[in-house]
Amino acid sequence: MKDLKYYLKKAKEEKWAIPQFNFSTIEQLKAIINVSYKLKTPVILGTSEGEASYLGMEEIVSLVKISKNKYKIPLFLNLDHGKNLDLIKKAIFLGYDSVHFDGSSFSLTENIKITRELIKIAHKKNILVEGEIGSIKGESQLSSKKIKILKQDLTSVSDVEKFVKETKVDSLAVSIGNIHGVYKKMPKLDLKLLKDIKKISKNFLVLHGGSGIENKEIKKVIREGIVKINFNTEIRIIWKNSLRKYLKNKNEFKPYKILNLVQNDIEKKLEEKVYLLNSNNKL
Ligand SMILES: [Zn+2]
Repeated sequence: MKDLKYYLKKAKEEKWAIPQFNFSTIEQLKAIINVSYKLKTPVILGTSEGEASYLGMEEIVSLVKISKNKYKIPLFLNLDHGKNLDLIKKAIFLGYDSVHFDGSSFSLTENIKITRELIKIAHKKNILVEGEIGSIKGESQLSSKKIKILKQDLTSVSDVEKFVKETKVDSLAVSIGNIHGVYKKMPKLDLKLLKDIKKISKNFLVLHGGSGIENKEIKKVIREGIVKINFNTEIRIIWKNSLRKYLKNKNEFKPYKILNLVQNDIEKKLEEKVYLLNSNNKL
């Protein structure tokens, strides 16, 4: 079976993007697997440190590996926003396909140093590393607050130049006005900045915080070279609303009946995203 790098390259050449869907429950995982199978799309399954710790990294790796072989579909695992170096190394050791090191709170020098160290370990096992330059604000939830992005939060082109040269990182998460979470007012994306980053970086460019961004904006960033888009909040919102709705049925006690309905609702949302990213029929 082809690896993640193959699909990222293909997406880059053909101008579409691979979705990353985060999960922390079995019905979410099953929904992602079903959609990958049904729409013939490569999918990156994301787990944040919190999500991974909840389900258990060993369990996650086993479940994904088994599903990948059982259904013969390109499912890839990514540790999302890894900050704890022990946890990142554990993901590499257990067989995640890629790890994202979120060094946004460090100085550029420190970010480069740690990213290099992780790449050395990861590449020995053919695992990709996603670096990050700039700070992507917000949390993966629905909020009525307004989020303010400062100029220093955005990805600096000169930092990217130094970072990619010194680390040879595989993928790069950019901060171009994107935020985590769905907020009352979503900021505008800076396409000019994305173009400037693209000019000096041959890496696979990643957009975090895909939830809540208008479809036409998503299409634009793909046209400008984004090859991976992360979705989490919208899946969480559907999960919560859907679960709440079906729990109202006072006569139903079987978890697998209730959760199957939740799973179906999640699948519809995921399918929408797959068509938006045009990653269907790419196996
Ligand atoms: Zn993120």
